[in-house]
Amino acid sequence: MDLLNRFRYWRRWKVGLHVDSVNDVPTRLRRRQAAIVGTSHQKWLAFDCPCGNGHRVLLNLDDNRYPQWRIASELPLTLIPSVDEESAAGHCHYIVRNGRIRWVERKGRR
Ligand SMILES: [Zn+2]
Repeated sequence: MDLLNRFRYWRRWKVGLHVDSVNDVPTRLRRRQAAIVGTSHQKWLAFDCPCGNGHRVLLNLDDNRYPQWRIASELPLTLIPSVDEESAAGHCHYIVRNGRIRWVERKGRR
């Protein structure tokens, strides 16, 4: 079933790998693939921002910390709530749902 879903959603965002620590997240992740950090207890979700500027996004999944995101689905990826980030690349605000990105706001910095 998982294989069938991988085929069905190959162009969408998904959780592509599970690693033990933040240091195990590869510098180069595959396109549209996120990594869950923490195998027994999920701590972070790491991926490269869909804006394409190459900045890494790290979302907290741990209930003991705030703000916290929830993965409603790994394949295709659905995140709750939206991601709203201020980084060196600018302001990136988007919703990840059913493996697709819906932009709320996207402002690049020069
Ligand atoms: Zn971005």
